[in-house]
Amino acid sequence: MSATLRRQVLELYQEVDAAVAAAGPVCVASGRCCRFKEYGHTLFLSNLEAEVLLHDAPPYDPETVSPDFCPFQQGNLCIARQPRPLACRVFYCDPNYQEIGNQITETYLRRLKELALAHNVPWRYAPLHYFLHEQKCGLRVVRAQDAEHPDTLPAAN
Ligand code: SF4
Repeated sequence: MSATLRRQVLELYQEVDAAVAAAGPVCVASGRCCRFKEYGHTLFLSNLEAEVLLHDAPPYDPETVSPDFCPFQQGNLCIARQPRPLACRVFYCDPNYQEIGNQITETYLRRLKELALAHNVPWRYAPLHYFLHEQKCGLRVVRAQDAEHPDTLPAAN
């Protein structure tokens, strides 16, 4: 990923954070939403978000990668807050926020796809542990063959 594209993704995240702040969801800081198995959901992200996350996130133990939890959660806190992906920024369990949260997700996922297209980068959407396994195995997050099947994975969490 070019430095320009990475900067544009981070700038887009600033817009996301502003949109979420304006919506004002309530967070009780339980940290449950980052313990995927306990919460019963999967964190999906695009290859653009995965590259930004893994570029700036602190080191983690690749042997612990699992679909059950996020390796960047320590205690109830995220240690990768600055590069965390879209879903982490938008998701709150506040029931009064779900509709606007979904709208924010749709808007900014579309913007991320547009960025990928503008930079001629293939688009892929997958659970976090897929990308972490790829990194562990030394594979690039974006592979040439992904360009042939860019939209074959589920598109929401
Ligand atoms: S990156 Fe941070 S916010 Fe996102 S799931 Fe992991 S610990 Fe939670």
